Amino acid sequence: MYELARSIRTIADYPKPGILFRDITTLLGDARAFRRAVDELVQPLAGTKIDKVAGIEARGFILGGAVAHQLSAGFVPVRKKGKLPHTTVRIAYSLEYGVDEMEMHQDAVQPGERVVLVDDLIATGGTAVGAVQLLRKLGADVAAAIFVIDLPDLGGAKKLAELDVQVRSLMA
Ligand code: IMP
Repeated sequence: MYELARSIRTIADYPKPGILFRDITTLLGDARAFRRAVDELVQPLAGTKIDKVAGIEARGFILGGAVAHQLSAGFVPVRKKGKLPHTTVRIAYSLEYGVDEMEMHQDAVQPGERVVLVDDLIATGGTAVGAVQLLRKLGADVAAAIFVIDLPDLGGAKKLAELDVQVRSLMA
């Protein structure tokens, strides 16, 4: 099995019965796997100008910080509503059951800046599509969306591609 995949564990019935939760905390806790994941996420972006990395709360913060450092880019958080202290822009996004809202600081990204979106996993794509829409509201040029895991049967990566976002993930 792909070495990185071995560093991720699957928890049955979390957070609800019937769900197989992919837990990347074991990848993050393994120095070699963490470095390799970040290196592989960054590698296709080498040589391209990236101004900011936007990480989705919460695991996207951990990966996004490391990716931003490696790309010599800034890091900006995409947060659940009510968590950011300054003026924000907000967007509603779909969850598997229902909707929620996410926010960014209004001045987190300047119009025309090239931004890479980062999260641990894409499933239905509701979260990532919301984040792309929020970034575009701020005038960002979303250069790519990168994930450690894609669950392709849930269609999220396809939705991002339909929005003309380049999607990359390390494993399915
Ligand atoms: P989506 O909006 O359906 O694509 O779900 C993706 C969001 O839910 C991301 O922010 C993930 O961190 C989180 N998520 C959904 N399923 C899992 C999982 O199995 N492991 C870790 N995170 C998950």
